[in-house]
Amino acid sequence: MKEENKIETALRFLFEEKKIIEKIKRRFKIREELIIPMLFSIKYGGSWSYVNEECSIAVKDRTTIFDGNVGFTKEKIYLFINPEVVESRGIVYRLEKCGSKKERVLVKRAYEVHVKADKIIVAEINPKTKTILIREEKLNNILLKPPLSYSFMHEYEHVMKREIEGEDIFGFSIIYGG
Ligand SMILES: [Zn+2]
Repeated sequence: MKEENKIETALRFLFEEKKIIEKIKRRFKIREELIIPMLFSIKYGGSWSYVNEECSIAVKDRTTIFDGNVGFTKEKIYLFINPEVVESRGIVYRLEKCGSKKERVLVKRAYEVHVKADKIIVAEINPKTKTILIREEKLNNILLKPPLSYSFMHEYEHVMKREIEGEDIFGFSIIYGG
């Protein structure tokens, strides 16, 4: 792509994004900065969070629908506005990598987590029909199961403490078999 075309595309994209944010803000009555994690999940994938006086967390779920020949991977992004953990169940030891860190760390996450929020907005992406449906969930609480519970708790830790705390992988013992 030529340089001027690239800039034009980037500008058009920025303009489109601004319009989308405006629309979501008005329709669902949410402050615009709280929408950003969902927009990032749509654009870059993965989970994101935002924190200031208020906070929001976006986590992404994926399911593949396959008819034996052709399929598509549907994505469902949950955006939690000012979420709170009501209850959590179980402990799972796992390695997680944070975007800003080089190595993975050992963390303990809840297996299931019951989350309530001021609002839960859902974006359903269908790559086959090339549509993104954005709607508000009727309930303001939801039970998250793995792997969504892990993604949520990772972002929740960012919201509460900014940095993810964990043990580094170099403390693991290597066992040579065979
Ligand atoms: Zn992280």
